[in-house]
Amino acid sequence: MAYVINDSCVSCGSCAGECPVSAISEGDGKYVIDADTCIDCGTCAAVCPTGAIEG
Ligand code: SF4
Ligand code: SF4
Repeated sequence: MAYVINDSCVSCGSCAGECPVSAISEGDGKYVIDADTCIDCGTCAAVCPTGAIEG
């Protein structure tokens, strides 16, 4: 089960730069995680300022 970014995302971009497998990209109005690429490390959730990433 991959991590998911919810609507609390403010598109700051912090998570994308921290992902070790580059699974995060900018989407329409918020960032999105590619479920097939995510390895569930949790790094993105730890750096998100709004708590928008759920695992
Ligand atoms: S949980 Fe890890 S691998 Fe998955 S999107 Fe976040 S930083 Fe990337
Ligand atoms: S760190 Fe959080 S608020 Fe920033 S782009 Fe990622 S999910 Fe959105």
